[in-house]
Amino acid sequence: MTNIHSTAAQMSAALAAKEISSVELTQQHLDRISAVDGDVHAFLYVDTEGALAQAKAADELRASGKEISPLTGVPLALKDVLAQKGVPTTCGSKMLEGWRPPYDSTVVTKLKEAGVVILGKTNMDEFAMGSSTENSAYGPTHNPWDLTRIPGGSGGGSAAALAAFEAPLAIGTDTGGSIRQPAAVTGTVGVKPTYGGVSRYGLVAFSSSLDQAGPCARTVLDTALLHEVIAGHDERDSTSINQLVPQVVAAAKKLDVKGMKIGVVKELSGEGYQSGVSQRFQESLDLLVEAGAEIVEVSCPNFEYALAAYYLIAPSEASSNLARFDSMRYGIRIGDDGTVGAEEVMRRTRHLGFGPEVKRRIILGTYALSSGYYDAYYGSAQKVRTLLKQDYERAFEKADVLVSPTCPTTAFKIGEKSDDPLAMYLNDVATIPVNMAGIGGMSLPCGLAPEDGLPVGFQIMSPVMQDDRLYRVGATLEAALLSKWGKPLLANAPELAVR
Ligand code: GLN
Repeated sequence: MTNIHSTAAQMSAALAAKEISSVELTQQHLDRISAVDGDVHAFLYVDTEGALAQAKAADELRASGKEISPLTGVPLALKDVLAQKGVPTTCGSKMLEGWRPPYDSTVVTKLKEAGVVILGKTNMDEFAMGSSTENSAYGPTHNPWDLTRIPGGSGGGSAAALAAFEAPLAIGTDTGGSIRQPAAVTGTVGVKPTYGGVSRYGLVAFSSSLDQAGPCARTVLDTALLHEVIAGHDERDSTSINQLVPQVVAAAKKLDVKGMKIGVVKELSGEGYQSGVSQRFQESLDLLVEAGAEIVEVSCPNFEYALAAYYLIAPSEASSNLARFDSMRYGIRIGDDGTVGAEEVMRRTRHLGFGPEVKRRIILGTYALSSGYYDAYYGSAQKVRTLLKQDYERAFEKADVLVSPTCPTTAFKIGEKSDDPLAMYLNDVATIPVNMAGIGGMSLPCGLAPEDGLPVGFQIMSPVMQDDRLYRVGATLEAALLSKWGKPLLANAPELAVR
């Protein structure tokens, strides 16, 4: 019987077989949100009426006999960085409190065209800056495995919604790891498509050359189904790639990696990686070998500079992108009491409208772009970016995909790193190179770390527009792990705090 614990593919089959209606399925998820989201706080806004109306429309579409998407009528949680017409969109910031976009982002347009039911908007680090969802102006999200721990960030709300069975599908965005790192620490699957593979139109910009929306779910096949719904060329995004979308659903069904070469990135292991993370990663490599893949070691010597370069490029672009929130053109307005000029109103608004991490990045980025420092900081970082791309090109000559642990550790405690920005930044050491080179990346759960019983993520990286390889390898590994465990990881967990 289909219920909130089913996969999106199972829900799709049950809808097709008329075992359940979309209205019923949506109501089950809304009930679940009411029951657990007080503890988890995955959602910033639940669109009860809108979701039920969309579900009714999906049921009618299905009954009409017209051609429909496999995901018609299946519910989804949307990261609050994507514009949805008429629905509050805050980016986790006070700055956008009360804003209801007058238009849909392309991702939302595609979801609506496919008849996917949008349950609501999920919590995130303010303007997607962070790795723990503690930087949200609306309070943190809690990891469903242990409510005292972070769900990753910046898309912690989307990942937690999946792990708490509040939604079978979610959308995230990944600038330096914000889809993959939350997936890793919540035992869910997240994919950052090739840059340009999914339109950024209507995605509130953090770092435009790095930002990429992508699919999140509890299984590899479900992410593939969602990937095909949201991907594709869009005239409204000048960086969108005008090519056919990789056949990711077919790849996720292949379950065969015989003859594939899998490159283990030497620089993304060893010191700094928790022992249980390394152990589960190694066991997954063994399973891939049993499935017929060949493991090769590759070296990407410039990866050691990736984090430093990212923390120049991302804040630089952010400082430019966030300049629009000046209380005159965009955002809230604070302190306009008629006695002060426009600049003072901007100052007051930004002072109260932005949180500390966003301010830190704007200051850092403004400094890095200032005349006299531009070449030394921003210019050098761009050169590192080229070196990272070259590292990947050389590595992909030796291997079809590259792999690493997604994160150095499992989920840490809420508050543990919030006073230490550098410790927080280190979480993304393995995910950032992917964004810097614009390639595709996936994280899927590969077990629980023996020392703390928390989920570990396995990262797969593929060349530009070869995202299908992520799904081929990911689904094969997932199937091998499933037959080893007997049950999916989330069902396997007595530790799961939210039942
Ligand atoms: N954690 C990284 C940062 O803080 C990445 C965030 C993201 O991917 N949006 O910038």
